[in-house]
Amino acid sequence: MSNGSVTHAISGLGAGEGTLGRHVTGELDASHGVVLYLDSISVSFDGFKALNNLSLSIDVGELRCVIGPNGAGKTTMMDVITGKTRPDAGTAFFGQTIDLTKLSDAEIAQAGIGRKFQKPTIFEHHTAFENLELAMKTDKSVFRSLFARLSSAERDRIAEMLKQIRLADAADREAGLLSHGQKQWLEIGMLLMQEPKLLLLDEPVAGMSDDETERTAELFLTLAGKHSLVVVEHDMAFVEKIARKVTVLHEGSVLAEGPMHEVHNDPRVVEVYLGR
Ligand code: ADP
Ligand code: MG
Repeated sequence: MSNGSVTHAISGLGAGEGTLGRHVTGELDASHGVVLYLDSISVSFDGFKALNNLSLSIDVGELRCVIGPNGAGKTTMMDVITGKTRPDAGTAFFGQTIDLTKLSDAEIAQAGIGRKFQKPTIFEHHTAFENLELAMKTDKSVFRSLFARLSSAERDRIAEMLKQIRLADAADREAGLLSHGQKQWLEIGMLLMQEPKLLLLDEPVAGMSDDETERTAELFLTLAGKHSLVVVEHDMAFVEKIARKVTVLHEGSVLAEGPMHEVHNDPRVVEVYLGR
């Protein structure tokens, strides 16, 4: 074996680390006011275009609702943003400098994009408080995290979050015993403990009671401005409550975009989605 191949192997490793360090430890540059920028993204599954030239940009602090019929590509869009699916074409930037198409899903999470799935991923046998505590710790080892002592500032932060997610009275309840809606809030709280710069929520009120849906709308309205949120939701009453700018996806591209009342009256949107 030549020295050349050893050098090559080592520099290969080095280059990998360099890439990781550059993209992930680099601060998010949202100085132009844009937190997420997708341009001409296409994704095909066996020749079927789930996303077709999708372009979209989200401002810092924005609360964007994304609606559209089943199969429009909403979840696939989130998969692209979080690195679960690689686009066949197009660009995806987090801030000015972070190229999402070059990062792994773990690196994207670390860079500050949080995602809430429909099924909450909480620790059922720990209390609500402990769930937030675990989410806050950078050391993800469950047992070590739980036995390390919390500072009073950390306790305050968790208490504050419990209040914000409407679980102050359920702090010591086992997460598995919470209602469906409370579990969803807990998971949102866990994501928020990691201070994401962008939070993606896929159908957050699915399965919630009317009362829980109402409280979730209030919660999202308090998050807007402080966080950048992209909310995919079918519940139009909910969307109307929280919406500022709405993006309508259809067949993998943006069909319409604008304030709710405009989108609502757009004949193309009525035809493919709202009118059914
Ligand atoms: P939405 O979330 O808007 O309902 P999706 O993004 O889940 O839509 O799906 C868009 C289209 O892509 C659908 O037709 C779906 O069947 C297809 N699709 C999504 N993921 C895959 C996959 N992994 N393999 C094949 N087809 C997929
Ligand atoms: Mg979906």
